[in-house]
Amino acid sequence: MPPVCVYQPAAIYQRGSLLQGAHLVVSAEGVVLEAPPADATVISLPHQLLMPGLVNGHSHAFQRVLRGRTEFIAPGREGDDFWSWREAMYQAAEVLTPETLYSVSKQCFIEMALAGITSVGEFHYLQHQPDGRPYEDESLLAKVVVQAARDVGLRICLLRVAYARSGFSLPPNPRQRRFIDADVERYLRRVEALRASVQNDPLVSVGLAPHSVRAVPKSWLEVLRAQGGPLHMHVAEQPAELKACQSEYQTTPVQLLSQLGLLGPNFTAVHAVHLTPDEVQALGTARATVCACPSTERNLGDGIVPADLLATAGASMSLGSDSHAHIDLFDEARQLEGHLRLLRLRRNVLAPVGSDPSALGRKLIDAATVGGARSLALNVGTLAAGESADFITLDLRHPSLLGASPETLMATVGLFASSAAVTGVWVAGHNIVAGRQHAHAESTANGFTDALRHLGPWPRPVNAALRSLT
Ligand SMILES: [Zn+2]
Repeated sequence: MPPVCVYQPAAIYQRGSLLQGAHLVVSAEGVVLEAPPADATVISLPHQLLMPGLVNGHSHAFQRVLRGRTEFIAPGREGDDFWSWREAMYQAAEVLTPETLYSVSKQCFIEMALAGITSVGEFHYLQHQPDGRPYEDESLLAKVVVQAARDVGLRICLLRVAYARSGFSLPPNPRQRRFIDADVERYLRRVEALRASVQNDPLVSVGLAPHSVRAVPKSWLEVLRAQGGPLHMHVAEQPAELKACQSEYQTTPVQLLSQLGLLGPNFTAVHAVHLTPDEVQALGTARATVCACPSTERNLGDGIVPADLLATAGASMSLGSDSHAHIDLFDEARQLEGHLRLLRLRRNVLAPVGSDPSALGRKLIDAATVGGARSLALNVGTLAAGESADFITLDLRHPSLLGASPETLMATVGLFASSAAVTGVWVAGHNIVAGRQHAHAESTANGFTDALRHLGPWPRPVNAALRSLT
């Protein structure tokens, strides 16, 4: 990267405002707002909107292998729901090797880059060998996923999952052997070892992720509360989880976390679909983040995140592609609002009353940028001075954006943009997608299809015609 670059697009979305005729100055330190030096390299970007890169707040990269493989009901499984989907997901988790995990993760991250995602929060729970014994390098699989993201050029916050048990009063599930650490002290030692191994890469950070109140007992949560940095947790995704929490603790998941002192600005509740009014208030009062994953919540039949009530209560919103049924954060943003329209039977649910035509669009884009950055403690998201230069360009002539005026452009982006409009992606000033292409896309796709062949015929036997497609 030259010492200083000046990007000159048709418009810039910067620090929450749409600017025309402006330029973005990027030095080796990141975004700078003062005038560029005379010898700066000028990069002209006609017909492009330049905006902050998207932050994918919740990902399980390996679940990319499930796409298209769980969309049917087998005879005898008429009650197919989240929990039988989970069994299929566990089958995938059982057979991945470090090599195939790398290939699958890299494909997932390439798709993210092409869709304008520059940072990912990877909620990583595949840790050990298939029989549950640690690898010689106990952080091997976490490092493999980090390497895949870095080889694509993404910034990654590896949210190392804590997983202790199958659930309250449940026998161990052999399919969870690869996830489980024997005790919380060992878990924290492994987190520290992982942190030490990535400390020289400024694009990699490590956070904590107690999986859920089902998989992590209170005694672990009491220890984890004292740790700093991002703390992410699946919360209230399915009604069965609420029932189990009632049986064990005689309260609801968010109330339990509140009583334990876990809720705060560094806490992110992933999903938070099934909430009581008191729980909404507790998340808001704590200034916690709720990471909604609408495409996955729709695909799994989870329900709808009450983002309107949460925002009113004071919670911050972020977005994730989670199971990667789709990888399109513009779609996640629009469905955050779209699902609420179906639920509340009205329009513009998240729009401030009396707002300008683009206020709702800005709010949705902010969830996909600033909200994710806050949740993962990343210095990105608004293109303010001193931030890392993580940004993307969108083609204003793309059919999904064509015809927008300066007044309606951010409404168009927030509610109608296709990720196919993304033309360029920069992470820390490095251009990783140019002309809608990523240099590794083809080789990565080949590696991915090879990995799928190694996985064999799962989740359930598929016919030969289907198998030959991979
Ligand atoms: Zn998840």
